[in-house]
Amino acid sequence: MGRNPKVKFGSDQYDYDMITIGAGIGGLSTSALVAKEGLKVLVLEQSDLIGGCCSTYEDKGYKLDVGASIVEVIDAMEEVFRRCGKKAEDYMELIPCDPIYAFVDEKGQRFAYPVDWDECAKVISEIDPRDGKSFYKFMKKGRKSIEKYLLPLFSLPMQTMGDSLKLMLKYPGLMVNLMPQMLSTHEAVIKKYFKNPIVLGSMAFQSYFVGAPPELCPGFMGLVALTEHYGIWYPKGGMIAIPNGLAAVGKEFGVEIRTNTLVDRILLDDKNVVKGVRTADGTEITAPVVLSNINAIVTYKNLIGRENLPWHINKGINSFTPSMGCPMVYLAMDTAPDLIAHHTMIASPLDQLNESWYDYKNDVISKKAGQSLACWPTDADPDLAPKGHHIVNFVYNGPVPYAPIGSNWDLLKERYIEDAIDYFDRVFSPGIKKHIVYAQASTPLDFERRLLAPRGCIYGLDFDITTVGPMRPRSRSWAVKNLYLAGASTHMSGGIPTVMSSGLITSELIKEDHL
Ligand SMILES: Cc1cc2nc3c(=O)[nH]c(=O)nc-3n(C[C@H](O)[C@H](O)[C@H](O)COP(=O)(O)OP(=O)(O)OC[C@H]3O[C@@H](n4cnc5c(N)ncnc54)[C@H](O)[C@@H]3O)c2cc1C
Repeated sequence: MGRNPKVKFGSDQYDYDMITIGAGIGGLSTSALVAKEGLKVLVLEQSDLIGGCCSTYEDKGYKLDVGASIVEVIDAMEEVFRRCGKKAEDYMELIPCDPIYAFVDEKGQRFAYPVDWDECAKVISEIDPRDGKSFYKFMKKGRKSIEKYLLPLFSLPMQTMGDSLKLMLKYPGLMVNLMPQMLSTHEAVIKKYFKNPIVLGSMAFQSYFVGAPPELCPGFMGLVALTEHYGIWYPKGGMIAIPNGLAAVGKEFGVEIRTNTLVDRILLDDKNVVKGVRTADGTEITAPVVLSNINAIVTYKNLIGRENLPWHINKGINSFTPSMGCPMVYLAMDTAPDLIAHHTMIASPLDQLNESWYDYKNDVISKKAGQSLACWPTDADPDLAPKGHHIVNFVYNGPVPYAPIGSNWDLLKERYIEDAIDYFDRVFSPGIKKHIVYAQASTPLDFERRLLAPRGCIYGLDFDITTVGPMRPRSRSWAVKNLYLAGASTHMSGGIPTVMSSGLITSELIKEDHL
C-alpha cells in the first residue's frame, strides 16, 4: 500500500499521461490542474454533455439545469482557477442571488432570509425574538471557523486517520473551533442556538445538501446556514457555465474531452497497476494514470472487478451505499411565477425533515412536507427561456426512493409530475397551473439512465458521521496503483464546493506522487 510507483510522463509507451473517466466538475477540475503541469490528459464522458449533475440541457427553447441549481462557498472553485493561473470571473459570470431563500407554508405565509446578516436577524426575530438574538451568537461563533479554516479544510487530503491528525496539528485552532461540531450532529449544533421549530427547520434542511437528515449529518454542516451569508450565485447561461469554464481552462492546457464515450473497464497489468481504459466499443486507450470521477462503488465493482481486489477492499466497498435520490420536475410557464427568491422552500419543522428521511429509507414516497424546493433560474437569467417565459425546477417531497414499494418510476412518473404541479400551484405560486406550457421530470431512474449514477444517487455515497474524511473512498486508491478518484464519492462528499475541493486534493496527490 502507500505511495504509487512514480511514472515518467510524456512517454511514447502510452497514448496519454492521464485518462479521466467522467466529465463531472471533479474530473474537469483535476484534469485542468494536472494538465497545467504539462500532463497530456484525455477526459472520457459517456453522455453527450459535460458537467454531470452540474449541467444544463436544452429542450423546446428552454435551458434546463439537470440537477444543481446554485453555487455557494465559491472559495474552492476560485482556488481551482487560481492554481491554473486564471480567474474564475474570466470564464463565467456569477449572478448574486439575494434573498438566499424564501420559505412558504401550506397556509400561504412567507418569509425570506436576506444575505445581509443584520437583515436576516430581523426576519428571524419576527418569527421568534429569542432566535433572532441567537442568530448573532451563532454567527459570531461560526464566522471565525469559516473565515480561518474553510479553505485549508477544503485543500487537505484525508487519506488516513494520520492525515486528520496532521491537519489538527497544523491548525490547532481547527481542533478548538471545529472539533466539537465534527463530533456532533447538525441537529445538535443548531439546537444549541435555536428554539422555534420553523427557525430550526430553516437552519437544518442544509444537511440534505450532502444527502443526510439533520439528526445523522455531521455537525460541521450546521455552518452552511452561515456560509450562505457570504453569498449564493447562479451562473449566467445555466449551471453548465461552471463545467464549461473548467473545460475551457483545461483545453488551454491541452485537455481533450470526448463525449458519448462510455468506459467499461479500467485496464490493469499483472501487478495491479493501471495501464489505461477500455471503452464500450472495445477500444483500449493507454495511460499510466487513471482518474475516476464516477461513483466509487461502480469504479471498484464494475470497472475494476472484485476479482482484482483484495478481500478487505471488497468488504469496504460493499459497506458503502449510494446516496439519496431526489426527483427534479422541470416546469416552463408563459408568465413569471409568484415567487420572491431564486430558491423557495417549504417551511418544514425539524422533526419532519428527519421523518421524511425514514420514509425514503423505507422505500416510501413521503407525504410529509419534508423537502419541497422551487428553483427559479429565469429570475437571475431571463435568457434561459423565450421572451416572457420562465422556468422553475421543482423538487417535490424529496428525498425519494429508487424503487418505491409496489411500483416503479416508469409507472409513477406522469402522476408524480401532475402531483408536483398541483402542489406547486396550491402552495408556491397559486394560479400558475394554467400557465404551465412544459413539464418534464428526472426521477432517480432517469438520473441513473442519464448519468449512470447507481440508484439515481445525487451525492455519490451516503454521508453520515461514519463515512466522512478518511472513512470515505480514498482519493489515491489504496488497492489499485496509479488509480485516483475525485468527485462526490470521495472526501469531502457531494456538492459543488466540496467536489471542487476534491479536485484540489486529488491533483495535489497526483503531483506529489509523480512530479
Ligand atoms: C438534483 C441535484 C441537485 C443538486 N443541487 C446542488 C446545488 O444546488 N448546489 C450544489 O453545490 N450541489 C448540488 N448538487 C450536487 C452537485 O451537483 C454534485 O455533487 C456534483 O456536481 C458532482 O460532481 P462529480 O464531479 O462528482 O460528478 P458527476 O456530476 O456525478 O459526474 C460524473 C460524470 O461521469 C459520467 N460517467 C458516469 N459513468 C461513466 C462511464 N462509465 N464512462 C464515462 N463517463 C461516465 C457521467 O455521465 C457524469 O457526467 C445537486 C445534485 C443533483 C443531482
